[in-house]
Amino acid sequence: MHTFDESAKQLAEAVIQYARDRMALDPIPLDGPRSMDELTAAVGATVTPEGIGGARALELFDKELSTSCISVDSPQYVAFIPSAPTKAASMFDLVVGASGLYAGTWLEGAGAIYAENQALAWLAGMAGLPKETAGGVFVPGGSVGNLSALVAARHKARLRRAGDLPARWAIAGTDQAHSSVIAACDVMDVDFIGVPVGDDGRLTGERLRRTLEEAGHDGVFAVVATAGTTNLGIVDDLAGVGAVCAEQDLWFHVDGAYGLAALCAPTVRAKFDGIERADSFVVDPHKWLYAPFDCCALIYRDRADGRRAHTQRAGYLDVVTENEEINPSDYAIGLSRRARGLPFWFSLAVHGTQAYTVAIERTLEVARFATDQIRNRPYLELLHEPDLSVVGFHRVGWTPEDYAVWSQGLLVNGTALVTPTTHAGRTVTRFAIVNPLTSEDDVLTILDTME
Ligand SMILES: *Cc1c(COP(=O)(O)O)cnc(C)c1O
Repeated sequence: MHTFDESAKQLAEAVIQYARDRMALDPIPLDGPRSMDELTAAVGATVTPEGIGGARALELFDKELSTSCISVDSPQYVAFIPSAPTKAASMFDLVVGASGLYAGTWLEGAGAIYAENQALAWLAGMAGLPKETAGGVFVPGGSVGNLSALVAARHKARLRRAGDLPARWAIAGTDQAHSSVIAACDVMDVDFIGVPVGDDGRLTGERLRRTLEEAGHDGVFAVVATAGTTNLGIVDDLAGVGAVCAEQDLWFHVDGAYGLAALCAPTVRAKFDGIERADSFVVDPHKWLYAPFDCCALIYRDRADGRRAHTQRAGYLDVVTENEEINPSDYAIGLSRRARGLPFWFSLAVHGTQAYTVAIERTLEVARFATDQIRNRPYLELLHEPDLSVVGFHRVGWTPEDYAVWSQGLLVNGTALVTPTTHAGRTVTRFAIVNPLTSEDDVLTILDTME
């Protein structure tokens, strides 16, 4: 019988050597996509009845496949939201894969869950949630996190309004809310009530109250505020929104997938005032907290709310669901789970939380530098005073085609990944700076190409 192991010993050396070399790359090349035809020509069929062997598979990955993927950890990657895992976190991702861990239940994964929960507790503590009740789980991303939190919110509303259920449920948020929030409404089949934002782009308590009054919807059960919009990094008025939620008994969810990492950054901490009122929030360590994909912390103010909504029941699960311990699978959609919080935990344990403060403050410094540069160059227009490390701007006179040609050119010659976006109906662009190795020089290089 094939036990898969015959060639494993030789492969181990090669695979670990590959990982070591990849992590030591300096500079990290940006790389970029190739077409389906090019890849077919270079790689061809790899899944065959006999197998192509470890050496060949690894070689193809090294030479052809990996180089056809953009390196999200390249300091010149400043589009979307980059990811810049620490080496400690990346290395530990290998360990997690090698360790035969199942982290859905305490019975099976107690040690891993214990460690993951310390990382969650650090985040919950910075947000000021009550220690005794707060808790949650690491899920694959902000999208799953937002959906899971909102499902828990509705579950709670259903229990509370049993006997008086509305015809339709609804969630309120701004049109700046992340696409995943709209997708969550779709999945849950609930209405979305869009609150108009002012010129500052922010959801405020006052605007929320007015919109709720006007909408007159009797099924609103939750409000989603964003702590760091993806497009421009805008932090909503969390204190104001939280106060309205408290007053009207609405679940207050904060989507901080990108921005809440900066809870540990003193120069911007005050922008998050009010986060301590959240019933739930998400933050992605794979974005601005230096963990590899895929890792989102979903945290409830009272983890019992999550458990009531998400615990799956089955005869073969009674052995784990009927004990008192923490079973991470009870807090989100999904049952089986990788201990995906462990790489983040390991890096936190290795470096200490202060190192995160330093790294994030460094990215904020570079973002402020970029902001000043943009303000001082007559051919550029700053879109919004940045709250965090996303800087949106426009090249005066450029059309969408100009942006497309420019962006493509920078990628093809390996200079940078900066992509166009839209804001207020116009094509514009943005820097998202989360990599502490992204420097002032990188900013200057890119801005000079726009002159
Ligand atoms: C990235 C992001 C998400 C989605 O997170 P994923 O991890 O990509 O699923 C949600 N909300 C905001 C504000 C984001 O920036």
